Amino acid sequence: MKKILITGGAGFIGSHLCERLLNEGNEVICLDNYFTGSKQNIVHLLDNPYFELIRHDITMPFFIEVDEIYNLACPASPIHYQYNPIKTVKTSVMGAINMLGLAKRIKAKILQASTSEVYGDPQIHPQPESYWGHVNPIGSRSCYDEGKRCAETLFMDYHLQNNVDIKIVRIFNTYGPRMHPNDGRVVSNFIVQALKGEDITIYGDGKQTRSFQFVDDLIEGMMRMMQTGDDFQGPVNIGNPGEFTMLELAETIIRLTESKSKVSFHPLPADDPIQRKPDISLAQEKLNNWHPSINLEQGLIKTIDYFKTLLEL
Ligand code: NAD
Ligand code: UDP
Repeated sequence: MKKILITGGAGFIGSHLCERLLNEGNEVICLDNYFTGSKQNIVHLLDNPYFELIRHDITMPFFIEVDEIYNLACPASPIHYQYNPIKTVKTSVMGAINMLGLAKRIKAKILQASTSEVYGDPQIHPQPESYWGHVNPIGSRSCYDEGKRCAETLFMDYHLQNNVDIKIVRIFNTYGPRMHPNDGRVVSNFIVQALKGEDITIYGDGKQTRSFQFVDDLIEGMMRMMQTGDDFQGPVNIGNPGEFTMLELAETIIRLTESKSKVSFHPLPADDPIQRKPDISLAQEKLNNWHPSINLEQGLIKTIDYFKTLLEL
């Protein structure tokens, strides 16, 4: 039985990871400050004697003995990470330093939840890991993008300088049950709007693209990455290469929910990337032929069911 620390474990992705790692027979310690996560996401795990919950902010040092650390703590939705941008940078950078220091001391493996945002508004499409990105260092998304880029730098330097066993995954847009209904990300916004019969809010002309991955596929990819040998650190893209415009996403969600909602157009937020799609050949090669197994419609149906229950519809 391994002891595994998950920072940000009460968030959307973290709660799925806690559940899966417990199901596979591990002892899981979930650390969270509940900024964007909630106890509700992990309440069903509290009866499990191998599950432990700790309220803590990773910008402060933390001491524990574990075998593996998954570092997920960081607000991920633009409205949340822009709410207190300085705190977002601190969470990514000071949080990484604290968790890497811990990993170094206790000789634990540590995985960083990085992001496709390190590619910024990409000028190479699809994005391979070798692409250095196109990021505005002083814009409204910079606290998140540059914080995550600096965290990657710290992970690589702790590996090169102190031989810490690190893993970096670059996560592309992920959706699924337990997304917060008000967190502002596009999949949850559109589903909630469609279910309530409200206008679907398209930012810009809706022709920008994203590649959406169902959360279960991501969890499988992250766990496979953690189990790779010490000759592979990444970064590795984990995402679903299916690429859709926001208009296509809106149409699909309206159809699947049988909603009468219409689309309405709103200003595009600053620095909103025009296109995004992962090149996943490295993941396929290094992660035992990992590839997404759930397509957009299948994943949306599961997510719509979740929101129907949540909204009591
Ligand atoms: P989320 O907001 O649901 O989860 C983040 C969790 O971190 C929350 O529970 C929050 O309370 C916690 N947290 C935030 N700041 C903290 C701090 N200082 N100390 C302790 N806990 C803190 O978001 P998510 O979608 O589950 O994202 C999880 C991770 O995956 C994040 O690091 C995010 O950057 C990364 N990621 C997510 C996506 C995506 O599409 N969901 C894409 C790329 C990367
Ligand atoms: N978006 C939209 N309507 C919304 C929320 C988001 O059109 O109600 C757009 C947003 O401008 C972006 C895309 O959907 O182009 C994805 O946004 P999200 O915040 O989910 O993720 P990110 O921009 O970080 O990829």
